[in-house]
Amino acid sequence: MSGGTPPLVALICSNPEMAVRLIEDHRDDGTGHCRSCSSGAQTGHYTFPCNILLDAQDAIRRLGEIEAARRRKVTPEPVVPV
Ligand SMILES: [Zn+2]
Repeated sequence: MSGGTPPLVALICSNPEMAVRLIEDHRDDGTGHCRSCSSGAQTGHYTFPCNILLDAQDAIRRLGEIEAARRRKVTPEPVVPV
């Protein structure tokens, strides 16, 4: 990995339960839009997958890499905001 971690991804990484909840909440509403981002006045404005879902998935992937590195007893690249 290179280029640092986007701030939102770093925030989500700091709270794995948040990552899981975001992935559960941000789903396709059946019309190609995120059902969570597109509620109320935002209806139809956020296509699926939304940026929040992509960031949460990125965070989960990074957390998996960190956990795998821990198991190998290798120092992982630190998760820091850019
Ligand atoms: Zn969303």
